[in-house]
Amino acid sequence: MSADRVLGFELALLAGAGVVALLLLLVGATPAAALLAATALYLARHLWLLWRLARFIRRQHRLAPPFPAGVWGEIYRAVGRYQQRSRKGRKRQIRFQRRFREAADSVPDALVVLGKSQQVEWANPAAAALMGVQWPAHDGRRLTDVFAQRGLGEYLEAGDYSRPLEVAADHNQSLMLSIRVAPFGERKRQRLLVGRDITKIFHLNMIRRDFVANASHELRTPLTVIAGFVENLSSSALTPEPHRRPLSLMDKQTTRMRTIIEDLLTLSRLEMQDTASNLAPVNVPQEIEQVVADARALSAGDHDIVVDMDEDLLLIGNQSELRSAVSNLVFNAVKHTPPGSHVQVHWHDDGGTPALRVADDGPGIAPEHIPRLTERFYRVDKARSRASGGTGLGLAIVKHVLNRHDAELSIASDLGRGTSFTCRFPPASRLRRADSGALVQVLRAR
Ligand code: ADP
Repeated sequence: MSADRVLGFELALLAGAGVVALLLLLVGATPAAALLAATALYLARHLWLLWRLARFIRRQHRLAPPFPAGVWGEIYRAVGRYQQRSRKGRKRQIRFQRRFREAADSVPDALVVLGKSQQVEWANPAAAALMGVQWPAHDGRRLTDVFAQRGLGEYLEAGDYSRPLEVAADHNQSLMLSIRVAPFGERKRQRLLVGRDITKIFHLNMIRRDFVANASHELRTPLTVIAGFVENLSSSALTPEPHRRPLSLMDKQTTRMRTIIEDLLTLSRLEMQDTASNLAPVNVPQEIEQVVADARALSAGDHDIVVDMDEDLLLIGNQSELRSAVSNLVFNAVKHTPPGSHVQVHWHDDGGTPALRVADDGPGIAPEHIPRLTERFYRVDKARSRASGGTGLGLAIVKHVLNRHDAELSIASDLGRGTSFTCRFPPASRLRRADSGALVQVLRAR
């Protein structure tokens, strides 16, 4: 109805009321009584329509045509439209909620929503199968009471979820779970925990690791025998001259194979556990000195190796693993740079973080290779690496050693200008020489 027609209808009503007043005057009513009666009539209509609307709204009845005429018709129509819109919105919301629940129920990973005190607020059916967390039965219970898992409480408290937590489920020992946590909601105080079944991947990884370890182990003995004979024959005066060159090539290749096998065995050992064992104060300056002495021998005077270190700075870690990491980095700086290059070994406390930096001014590494350098057998230039006696496993060993020490490796390189490898160790592993004696006693007493 147009605004003019609404106004017209209301004026017609008032005119009608006026006619009633006139009729009452004609039949002898006083002017005041006639006016009052006409006004009461007009008001009664308004009140009745207002009361009807209020009743509809209170009882949540649907307002449907026919609507009254005039201004009330407009109000009824507007309320009807609003009701229809909110009904549609509610239906859409219910449909969305149902579909979201169905989708969450069909996710094969365990999903658990945790409140700010780590209490279970919601979980999908997979959480019951994988973690034994049942919803709504466990609603409001602390997650660690329902899914008691070593390390989980600390992991949730620590708040660093950049790496997943891998656990063997206590309630089902044949199950391996990878747990990830994503904070969300107001001030990120709620958390969504996702538990993924990685049993198959874990077993495949174990089979691969065992295969590499066993194969390397099995190859070691026959190779030692072959290398022994080749060496004897090479050095024997009875060996005919034409055989000497092939024998020297065999000697070189067997040495290479033995180095690869030793590196593979080292990697297999490092892969057995995520954290370093046999922790003790490690005299890093002494290790660096020994490695640098070996590197100078390898370089045979072709490189200028400079050492700059804090003699008092030690580290709590695994001595042989740390030695292996340092030697791989320093030897790489010699092996992969031309004669005349400069190598700098830097060991300092960088604002509470013990940091080892090995830098050279060699040919550098193109940026596209840097992210892949720590992969096994990844070499920028295969032929050159082989010629320099590289196995392609050195940086993979470095990365594993650092992971086991909660340390980080960063690589910076400028093509044609040099490369620097920096290992940053956690502040908690830092130790001053003066404190090392007391610490040894504490570690022994454990
Ligand atoms: P490798 O046994 O070949 O040294 P690594 O895993 O130690 O294997 O290193 C991987 C590759 O990274 C090397 O083959 C080499 O191409 C490159 N690289 C490592 N260190 C340096 C360096 N200081 N300068 C230039 N290239 C390097």
